[in-house]
Amino acid sequence: MGIQLFVPTFNIERCMEEIKECLEKGWTGLGFKTVEFEDKWKDYTGHSNAHFLSSATAGLHLAVKIYKMKYGWKEDDEIISTPMTFVSTNHAIAYENMKIKFADVDEYLCLDPKSVRKQITDKTKAILFVGLGGNTGRLKEIIEICKEYNLKLILDAAHMAGTRFEGETPGLKADCTVYSFQAVKNLPTSDSGMICFNDAEDDEICRKMTWLGINKDTYARTNQKGNYKWKYDVEYLGYKYHGNSIIAGIGIAQLETLDRDNAFRRQICNWYDQRFKEIAGIKRVLVAGGCESSRHLYVIEIDNRDELLEYLNENEIYPGVHYRDNTEYGMYAHGKDECENSARMSERIMSLPLHLRLSKKDVDYVADKVIEFVNKNRHS
Ligand SMILES: *Cc1c(COP(=O)(O)O)cnc(C)c1O
Repeated sequence: MGIQLFVPTFNIERCMEEIKECLEKGWTGLGFKTVEFEDKWKDYTGHSNAHFLSSATAGLHLAVKIYKMKYGWKEDDEIISTPMTFVSTNHAIAYENMKIKFADVDEYLCLDPKSVRKQITDKTKAILFVGLGGNTGRLKEIIEICKEYNLKLILDAAHMAGTRFEGETPGLKADCTVYSFQAVKNLPTSDSGMICFNDAEDDEICRKMTWLGINKDTYARTNQKGNYKWKYDVEYLGYKYHGNSIIAGIGIAQLETLDRDNAFRRQICNWYDQRFKEIAGIKRVLVAGGCESSRHLYVIEIDNRDELLEYLNENEIYPGVHYRDNTEYGMYAHGKDECENSARMSERIMSLPLHLRLSKKDVDYVADKVIEFVNKNRHS
C-alpha cells in the first residue's frame, strides 16, 4: 500500500445511521437532510446563510453568476484570482465569460495583497481568494482592499472547513464563501459543497438557481397541503446544482468530528515541523499568524522537487503537488509570466502525506526519506 497523500476516514456507523434514516423515510433528494446539514453548518461556522450543493465548483460558479446578474457586471469586467489553485476556482470566472486577472501569491501560497493592488483597474469587480491548505494568508488585508475599492470578496474555502482566524470563521468577513466536501477534502463526503452568502437575498436567488430556476413560492402560498405542486414559476435559467439527503447525511456525520480531526491534522503537521525546522534545504509553508488552520495540506518547498517525488515513490511514499500554476494550462496561458512567485513555487512545492490514519512512525518515515534525499542532494 505504501503511504498515500490522502486517505479519507469516515465515521462509518454514524454515516450508515444517517443514510438508513433517509432510506427508511423514502427521502433521498433535496430537503430533509440537506436542510438539517445547512442548519448544522450555520451553527458550526456562524454563517447566517448556507445552501448545500453537489460541489464547490457549482458554488463558485453561482457566486460569480449571481453577482454578475445582480450588479450587471459585463463580460469584459475583471475578477482578480490566483494561479495557485485547483482549476475550479478560475473556471468559475471563465464560465461567466468574465476576465481573469491573475495576481501573484505570497509565502503562504495565498493571494499577495501587494500584487492584487497592482491588478486593480476600473473594470475590477471582485477578488476570488483561495485559503490554500486551510491557511488564511493575508486575507485580512484583502478584506481591507475590497472595502477600499468596493469589490466583492468571494472566498474559495474548499480547504477551510473548520479553519478559524482569531477565533472566528474567516468567511464571515467575505461576501460569499464556498466550501468543498469532495471525497479527499478534510471534511470528506463523496462529492458536495456548501455556499454561504452574507446577504439573505443572494441566498434566496441561489436556492432557485441550484434547482433549475424553479420558484416554489407560488404553490407554497396558494396551498399548504402540497397539492398544486406543479404550480411553480420558473424565474431563471438555473442549474441542477443542489445537493441530496444521502450525501448531506454523510456530511452531518463527518461534521461531528471535524474539530477533533483537524486537531489531529495539526498534530501531524507539528511532527513534520519538528523534524524539518532545523534542516537547511527544506522550507516549510507556514500558517499565517492568527490562523488556526484546518490543515488540509502540509506543503514544503525544495530544490529538485520532481526528483524527490520519484525518490519518495521508490520508497512507497506518494506525495502530491498543490498546485501547478494555472497559467501553465492552455486555458489560462494568457496570464503566463505575470506571476513570478507562483511560477517559481509551481516547480518547487510538494504536499506530504496528511490524513487521519497516519501514525507518528509513518510521519517519521516520510521525514527520514525527505531529509535523506535533501542531504544527499546538498552534498553531491
Ligand atoms: C477541490 C477544490 C475545489 C472544487 O471542489 P469540488 O467540491 O470538487 O467541486 C475548488 N477549489 C479548490 C481550491 C479545491 O481544492
